[in-house]
Amino acid sequence: MILEVDAVSKRFGALTALNRVGFAVDEGQIFSVIGPNGAGKSTLFNVVSGLFAPDAGRVRFRGVDITGLPPERVNRLGLAKTFQITNIFPEISVLDNVRVAAQSRTPESGRLASLWRRPDVDGVACALLETFGLGARRDAHARDLSHGEQRYLEICVALATDPRLLLLDEPTAGMTPGETRDATALVRKVVLERGLTLLLIEHDMSVVMGISDRVAVLHFGEKIAEGTPEAIRSDPRVIEAYLGGGDD
Ligand code: ADP
Ligand code: MG
Repeated sequence: MILEVDAVSKRFGALTALNRVGFAVDEGQIFSVIGPNGAGKSTLFNVVSGLFAPDAGRVRFRGVDITGLPPERVNRLGLAKTFQITNIFPEISVLDNVRVAAQSRTPESGRLASLWRRPDVDGVACALLETFGLGARRDAHARDLSHGEQRYLEICVALATDPRLLLLDEPTAGMTPGETRDATALVRKVVLERGLTLLLIEHDMSVVMGISDRVAVLHFGEKIAEGTPEAIRSDPRVIEAYLGGGDD
């Protein structure tokens, strides 16, 4: 068990965004979280990655209680996350975005200047960019990348921190169905090759059903179902949740 989420609740004022949500992810699994818009998916990822402290419940990562730890500490333990909203530095180069992330994992990360040209940091960053088809774009400003290229860059930034568990919040948002299929296949390949565990939020149901070992369904902050893609597809509560509201 690489991740255990136990009865996590999160409130924003009067709104209960998460109500006693719990699940566990096995090492090497691809585990997807689905649910209509506003169901609490991003909030759940923000709690797991340390951005939000939960009001109740615990989060354990590789056996360590990480509840309430700040995101940098959680990241150093081997958990990396991308955001639903793009989170890269637009004014520096594509390569430098990945370098910053890669060097954050080195022991001497305080001495940025001396590390900047370190071949291992450069090697990690360049290899990642090649994998995601961004090798030729390494010297471009990140702001000049296309939308799809920026999503790939975000994944490179997350992977540059050398995580064991990768959290992707709608990595294919804004992509065409064809781009979505390509992106998902590439992510799956990298995750399998590196033996990573993937926790995914994805709105394209065919992608979710094709890629996931296990799926959890959120609805109004509650987990209403969890199981294999086959079980989820035919679950009456899930069908009802999707027909009953939300457009996600
Ligand atoms: P999802 O990712 O499933 O679409 P979210 O987790 O983003 O849903 O949001 C769940 C609910 O919590 C929504 O009603 C949303 O408006 C609310 N919410 C999310 N983040 C905040 C926040 N920082 N402050 C106040 N309300 C929030
Ligand atoms: Mg969201």
